[in-house]
Amino acid sequence: MKKIPKATAKRLSIYYRCLKNFKAMGMDRVSSEQISDAVKVDSATIRRDFSYFGTLGKRGYGYEIDHLIEFFSRLLSQDQLTMVALIGVGNLGNALISYNFKQSNNVHINAAFDIDPEKVGKIHEGVPIYSMDEIVDQLEARQIDIVILAVPSHAAQSVVPQLEEAGVKGILNFSASRLNVPKDMFVQTVDLANELQTLIYYVTHH
Ligand code: ATP
Repeated sequence: MKKIPKATAKRLSIYYRCLKNFKAMGMDRVSSEQISDAVKVDSATIRRDFSYFGTLGKRGYGYEIDHLIEFFSRLLSQDQLTMVALIGVGNLGNALISYNFKQSNNVHINAAFDIDPEKVGKIHEGVPIYSMDEIVDQLEARQIDIVILAVPSHAAQSVVPQLEEAGVKGILNFSASRLNVPKDMFVQTVDLANELQTLIYYVTHH
């Protein structure tokens, strides 16, 4: 498969969710314009995104929803449960455990880690909290290679060597600091303060 642009990759789960909604509404065929209306991405972009994956639809006929759902489901590993670990059980970490991606049934926070001895050894909403000394053993035993990092920004980089040792392959980074990671590790940063600042900028200047 061709290497797809990052922007396209980011839209895949949005498309998938939208298609599931269309199916739930009883539809079996959809045009790029209908998807465009639902996800607020222009239809040319949608057609280009889909074209990276070969011919998913016929001209003038639209896309078959079942076929697309099956395709995206495989692409997004929707058919398998991905266990993830959380590092940093502060305010944000606690909220993420409570949230625990309940609306998508293929990701689940399975274990959490913290350096605070007050927090270690407790179970929060069914998720056990371990010390950072146990991270390598626990992640290996649980076959977890994706972590959510919710430690304070100043601590984020210092956690990376431990994650590397634990064989972590992907980090969802909620801290504002940009992480230096080994070449084979992926980082997705969710900088909430920055997103909000960007929104404020748009509201103020447009
Ligand atoms: P709280 O006051 O409960 O700690 P908070 O959200 O204000 O909440 P932060 O300072 O943002 O806390 O830290 C988030 C969590 O990350 C805390 O539980 C903290 O103990 C933990 N933490 C800090 N440094 C590390 C580290 N190096 N490794 C793992 N966890 C860490």
